[in-house]
Amino acid sequence: MSLKTRNAIVTGSTSGIGLAIARAFAAEGANVTINGFGDAAAIEKERAGIEADFSVRCRYSAADMSKAAEIDAMVKEAEAAFGSVDILVNNAGIQFVSPIENFPPEKWDQIIAINLSSAFHAMRAAVPGMKARKWGRIISTASAHSLVASPFKSAYVAAKHGIAGLTKTVALEVATDGVTVNCISPGYVWTPLVEKQIPDTMKARNMTKEQVINEVLLDAQPTKQFVTVEQVAALAVFLCSDAASQMTGSNISMDGGWTAA
Ligand code: NAD
Repeated sequence: MSLKTRNAIVTGSTSGIGLAIARAFAAEGANVTINGFGDAAAIEKERAGIEADFSVRCRYSAADMSKAAEIDAMVKEAEAAFGSVDILVNNAGIQFVSPIENFPPEKWDQIIAINLSSAFHAMRAAVPGMKARKWGRIISTASAHSLVASPFKSAYVAAKHGIAGLTKTVALEVATDGVTVNCISPGYVWTPLVEKQIPDTMKARNMTKEQVINEVLLDAQPTKQFVTVEQVAALAVFLCSDAASQMTGSNISMDGGWTAA
């Protein structure tokens, strides 16, 4: 129970990687604010399930990560409810796949807002409390696409490269305050985000579903296996531990060897 006295926010945690991170933090004793979209009854089931399974407090914030004021309010409400925000995970993210000449400008704006600017707004709101308490952990879910590119993902790749730069910058600013700032860069993790981009990739590349899985997705990953959400969550827990207190400004790959190639 390494996080027993900690209070965490995990954005985009009604699904996929974020949900696994929220549950892993709760398993270590942290109170958690979950966030994201979805069916209200399903979200309440997840929230209540976390409280029941791990004997912690879990609250839900419906804040839209494309809206600065809602992000600021999410952090302030979490501080008021639990007394602090010790751990912030910027995880909410969406994808859109299209050649640049057809890429809708509003999709570009939405991806930059949700996948990049939301991390800025959340860090900006959470850092003062972390600095005052002399302890904090900020983790962003970046991507192998924070290091390398793939065609047809201009907004996503730009946003994830931005997360890597933002991580380094804020890490330097808070380096003497007991606050670490890192990002995790997974390769392909089997979640709804990956599943949902298959039809568009089929269209963009004129491929079958099996071809997209084997020749596009797993083709990039030398291990030929998807990363699991539990593996990403275990790394997030480690980054919150004392053993990781000298890791800051890092972009840590978990990509089956993708970016080694
Ligand atoms: P997912 O679709 O399963 O989950 C995304 C979460 O973000 C959901 O909870 C969703 O409700 C939430 N969300 C979306 N828009 C939001 C908004 N405007 N406001 C608040 N919440 C919002 O996806 P995932 O695969 O678990 O992705 C999580 C993060 O991991 C993303 O940042 C993604 O880019 C990153 N990532 C995923 C993979 C992968 O292969 N799945 C690889 C590398 C990085």
